[in-house]
Amino acid sequence: MSIHEECGVFGMISNNTTDVGQMIYYGLYALQHRGQEGCGIVVNHDGLFSSHKDLGLVSEVFGKENLAKLPQGEMAVGHVRYGTTGANNRSNCQPIEVNHQKGRMALAHNGNLSNAAKLRDELELSGAIFHTTSDTETIAYIITKERIKCGSIEDALTNAMDILQGAYSLVLMSPQKLICARDPHGFRPLCFGKTKDGSFVVASESCAIHAVGGEVIRDVEPGEILVFSRQENGIKMQSIQRHCYKEERKICIFEYIYFARPDSVIDGISVHSARVSAGRELAKEHPVDADMVIGVPDSGLDAAIGYSLESRIPYGIGLIKNKYIGRTFIAPDHRLDQVRIKLSAIEDVVRDKRIVLIDDSIVRGTTSGRLVKLLREAGAKEIHMRISAPPFLHPCYYGTDIDSEEHLIANKHTVSEIAELIGADSLGYLPVEKLGCLMQERYPDYFSGYCSACFDGKYPTEIPTDTRKDRFEMPLSQKEKK
Ligand code: AMP
Repeated sequence: MSIHEECGVFGMISNNTTDVGQMIYYGLYALQHRGQEGCGIVVNHDGLFSSHKDLGLVSEVFGKENLAKLPQGEMAVGHVRYGTTGANNRSNCQPIEVNHQKGRMALAHNGNLSNAAKLRDELELSGAIFHTTSDTETIAYIITKERIKCGSIEDALTNAMDILQGAYSLVLMSPQKLICARDPHGFRPLCFGKTKDGSFVVASESCAIHAVGGEVIRDVEPGEILVFSRQENGIKMQSIQRHCYKEERKICIFEYIYFARPDSVIDGISVHSARVSAGRELAKEHPVDADMVIGVPDSGLDAAIGYSLESRIPYGIGLIKNKYIGRTFIAPDHRLDQVRIKLSAIEDVVRDKRIVLIDDSIVRGTTSGRLVKLLREAGAKEIHMRISAPPFLHPCYYGTDIDSEEHLIANKHTVSEIAELIGADSLGYLPVEKLGCLMQERYPDYFSGYCSACFDGKYPTEIPTDTRKDRFEMPLSQKEKK
């Protein structure tokens, strides 16, 4: 399996503004939580592309100077990238640009293909040379190959979607068009909207559309391709639906639990409300006598409100996060230190209290253990840990970075053993069969509408046989030993 692409994409086609690069910059800023490893912007000016990409946060990569260097233009695409250890090099930064006889293309991608290894092998055997270890290059190759046979880039993308499997939310730019597409299961979010001057924007999450002063029109449907082009009387939008409604809708449930920003609305469901529902369900499933409910900032806060509302135990702010630190998990090293650097307890709030502590997930158990210790040191009398997701048991092939199975604490220990290991007085997870509570308002049937393979092992597509993360970086001799 290639590196994880748990990323954010943003695109804009302007009606009359020319500072598209700047708009993408603000859009990416709003999507920074989706990836902190690297980012990039490609601007289209009169059909020519100019770009800047690098490792680092949006504010670092696009300091005043680099942003000012981007030319004025009519369209642009951008990307924030999440990277895992081993693959954090500049060449994996997106959007990737392709120059081909049939035209130019810039491509930004969120998700992981589940048949990436197979496709890449086939392409390499037919002479393709890859410069990155990311699935995005595979997608670009396949679109380009199809483009040779097709009359238009959108036809090439439509054909490519017959071949691609797994998760992809794409924003693509040709000299004349801005195109976006979502895989037929709709694993990763993608939506579009309009700004006041009639420009169209496409984004991984609705919060980014709002950030540039736009209004959300709707989510891109699973399997849908949208093509935007500039006409004399404004921007024309075309929807291609050949891949729609063929597969079951399978949005990643972890987007609601952890990944997305709470002010985003994905597939018609508010992420904040979904988390509050999970907290309420958790209170019903695992009630406890306590004095205060506190959430782990940031993604545990909304579920903590839900737990408090349902249990009528007061909600309090017991943990403070250093605002200038990104998601611990995203920076791969020194995690133990980072919990302490990132979070601290308010002694005055937690001292002598029986605390219900809500977090979104336990992976290895390191964070929870550290948090329990922090609260004990601050004087908490009892700590009852509640997790607004089921135990992680399986790998994800669609872009969520989940540790390998042998490192997942829930694969090695029972719930009561984990409670003991992290030092909590009790521990309760959201049961896997109750995950639907996150989406119930839109999909009343608990068993459809989302992918929860990381919790239940039910994969909506075929899964790869060779899952080594560094497979594409290996010498051929080792690759063959699979
Ligand atoms: P651990 O310390 O290994 O148990 O990690 C748990 C913490 O990692 C939780 O507080 C989550 O917020 C965070 N987390 C879980 N899964 C992910 C993920 N796929 N990407 C980033 N952060 C995650």
